[in-house]
Amino acid sequence: MNQPTWGESTLALRTGHRRTSEREHAEPIFTTSSYVFESAEQAAEFFAMENGEVNIYSRFTNPTVACFEQRLAALEGAERAVATSSGMAAILSVCLAFLKQGDEVVCSRSVFGSTIGLFNRFISKFGIRVHYVPLQDLNAWADACNKNTRLFFAETPSNPLCEVADLKALAALAKQKGCRLVVDNCFCTPALQKPLALGADLVVHSATKYLDGQGRMVGGAVVGNDQDMTEVFSVIRTTGPCMSPFNAWVFLKGLETLHLRMRAHADNALQLAHWLEAHPAVKRVHYAGLPGHPGHALAKQQMRAFGGVLSFEVQGARAEAWQLINATQMLSLTANLGDAKTTITHPATTTHARLTPQARQDAGINDALIRIAVGLEDIADLKQDLQAGLDALI
Ligand SMILES: *Cc1c(COP(=O)(O)O)cnc(C)c1O
Repeated sequence: MNQPTWGESTLALRTGHRRTSEREHAEPIFTTSSYVFESAEQAAEFFAMENGEVNIYSRFTNPTVACFEQRLAALEGAERAVATSSGMAAILSVCLAFLKQGDEVVCSRSVFGSTIGLFNRFISKFGIRVHYVPLQDLNAWADACNKNTRLFFAETPSNPLCEVADLKALAALAKQKGCRLVVDNCFCTPALQKPLALGADLVVHSATKYLDGQGRMVGGAVVGNDQDMTEVFSVIRTTGPCMSPFNAWVFLKGLETLHLRMRAHADNALQLAHWLEAHPAVKRVHYAGLPGHPGHALAKQQMRAFGGVLSFEVQGARAEAWQLINATQMLSLTANLGDAKTTITHPATTTHARLTPQARQDAGINDALIRIAVGLEDIADLKQDLQAGLDALI
């Protein structure tokens, strides 16, 4: 039902809604757990369909959730999306769909903390090995492969240092090794980066972040081709981490403004990055939008803008970083990101606190590092909230 010629803003507003006989303008929320059949014959016929073609039960399909799935798939340029109860449920369902005992995974060492927890504490129980490699070191990815390798897993730009992976090169290597490349596109969203167009096989999302964009709901999705998504759909249908229709409706409203919001997040982040870089209390700013960032040229090729997350090191160590964080009045001190309200956090003692000191050092996360997920406030107010704390450090 999409017009093939529609631009992305139109797709984000119009895809997937089949108006009911009530002639509603906004998408309805179908709060029903099951659906009725017209006859015993129809029930038998529908139960024989296994790929979500018809509504049977809301663990399998739900019209509001389906609308969100179609809209997200259209934006990622994919054949199909399957919604999940959270971003972690999306990653788990990819593991359950494509890995079995004896298989191996190569994963960037700079991925979301719970992703590492999922691999090390749970997926490992099924005899599946995960090798961690530096995100940008293609030789390390190649060296970690063997005949059992089935999945590559990456996130770019990385959290919190904004390292940029060459997705085309990684996809080519995955293909050569006969495995699927899975990209966690949570930091960019399809508004800024389309991993499938660069050769990735599957995209996973935490919809909790920018797809919602206003910090209201937890949800996720997997996006890919029809054949792969049939497997993912079977996992969700059978094991149960499906998205609630109410959450899907909130994410639909989020998608409607995604392109505008992502531009605005990136504009604010770029301005803040330049401003921080010029302050004498700041030692270094990590943001791919800065010309001096090692991933800048690559990011320019594969991203439409550089995203909303940046990090920076203050002169000093933990005491100075905490002093600056505590001096802010407006910014929200929380580890969440992808919210219209700006958030600030100290990665070494929050999001990355569970790493060993050596692993933190290897990942380049030192005690002077602060991460900001830049929101949509006026840039002057963001600067003002950081100014006094920064001035106090010199
Ligand atoms: C938050 C996040 C996740 C996990 O998503 P949930 O919705 O919290 O389960 C996965 N990957 C990245 C990059 C994230 O930021």
